Amino acid sequence: MKMQKTAYRGRIFYFRDASTFKTIPISKEIDKGFLEHSYCHFEDGVLIVDEQGKVANVGQYADMKKHLEGSQLVDYKSCLITPGFIDTHNHAAQSAIVAAYGEKLLEWLNNYVFPAESKYKNDTHAKNDLNFFIDLMLKNGTTTAVCYGPLFYAASNIFFEELQKRNMRFITGNTIMDDNSPDYLKLPTKENYDIAKKLIHKWHNKHRLSFCITPRFGLACSEEMLEMCGSLAKEYPDAYIQTHLGENTHEITAIKQRFPWSKHYLDVYDHYGLVTDRAVFGHGIHLTELELEVLKAKKSILAHCPTSNNFLGSGLFNFKRTSQYTNRITLGTDWGAGNTMSMLRVMDDAYKVAMLSGFKLPSMLRWYLATLGAARALHIDDKVGNFEKGKEADFTVIDPNATPILKYRNNQVDDIFELLFIIMSLADDRNIVATYIMGKPVYTNQAPVRGYYTSNLMAESFSGSIEQAANAEIK
Ligand SMILES: [Zn+2]
Repeated sequence: MKMQKTAYRGRIFYFRDASTFKTIPISKEIDKGFLEHSYCHFEDGVLIVDEQGKVANVGQYADMKKHLEGSQLVDYKSCLITPGFIDTHNHAAQSAIVAAYGEKLLEWLNNYVFPAESKYKNDTHAKNDLNFFIDLMLKNGTTTAVCYGPLFYAASNIFFEELQKRNMRFITGNTIMDDNSPDYLKLPTKENYDIAKKLIHKWHNKHRLSFCITPRFGLACSEEMLEMCGSLAKEYPDAYIQTHLGENTHEITAIKQRFPWSKHYLDVYDHYGLVTDRAVFGHGIHLTELELEVLKAKKSILAHCPTSNNFLGSGLFNFKRTSQYTNRITLGTDWGAGNTMSMLRVMDDAYKVAMLSGFKLPSMLRWYLATLGAARALHIDDKVGNFEKGKEADFTVIDPNATPILKYRNNQVDDIFELLFIIMSLADDRNIVATYIMGKPVYTNQAPVRGYYTSNLMAESFSGSIEQAANAEIK
């Protein structure tokens, strides 16, 4: 079958390459003049994806007819087409314990997380559970993530294999720990090093995958283990690093006792060479000025996870204060402690948490943090995050009228600021119509999720829409 360009018609919204954290418009009242260059909004737009799955063109439908010749047309007229969401903090091996009752961080880890993660010694369980995790992510419109993988080599390797089958742009690594955890999960330093090395050689910078050095957090790693993570970071400077920071006050007290030489929590990681511009720190709720200064100087990334913070009662991230130091803030579900995989729900919680600190977190800024802002923080904005020509076409299609309340509420919406705000306030996975990876549908709400990544199944399963598209082919 001859490959064709495909054109997706709908309301299109994304941030331009020229936009920055500081130029994202706050409201339509001040969106006059120069700020308009920071985003593109085509009410009746079209996104054209080439045969390689990259953006060939995008614009107002009426202006694009000459570019549509020979394309298949998929009509999402009443839906919003936007770059796939980027979730910068979540745990692949924690689906089985989401929504576990009544504990704060340290007890929650011992009582729920560790027993669940130990089941990943069984490869069949690992494969099923990881596929469930990936399917759910795609169902929620998330196309890229920075993710804590399983501890064991076989399970981690299965995870990379399943991600590669979907062709996802994805950053993950084996979760590393050897202390303050049950014996059945402790792997010696050398074994962790060997697992990481094997995974790096097999998967790092292969397909669309990147490896992430993943010490769980300071309390779960011996100094020897942190030192090993630091040497891996030196050996592979383009690998990512992720860990937790300043999530819970008891955790911070325990860190001080465990590393009495440290100036502050972040200093523990800094001491071992783990604070870099490729390091993603989850939470960062309770940070001192000194820590914020170090994060700023090292250009590290903070993954704000409001849903998880609320669930575990960890505290309120102060967006206004933090953003005075750094603009490398992103959003994460922290799936596991976070009880939703929907970045829309996370954007809503980020708004509510900011409101509790007396700060109005603008709609467009939250959408930016979950798309181009995250891509930029992760140094992948030359590949994903928006629809500029040549970018990889990872996107999601959102029906803003999928539920009765949204349909009712949207009758009264007349600008993109309000539309985004209402979607973030009221929408969830029920609103996700389809998710595409490099121009291929990997989820659609017209059929069951599982099995969708198999390309043959995909073509058949999706024939309804493609057929309509073919009929509507532009002459
Ligand atoms: Zn986490």
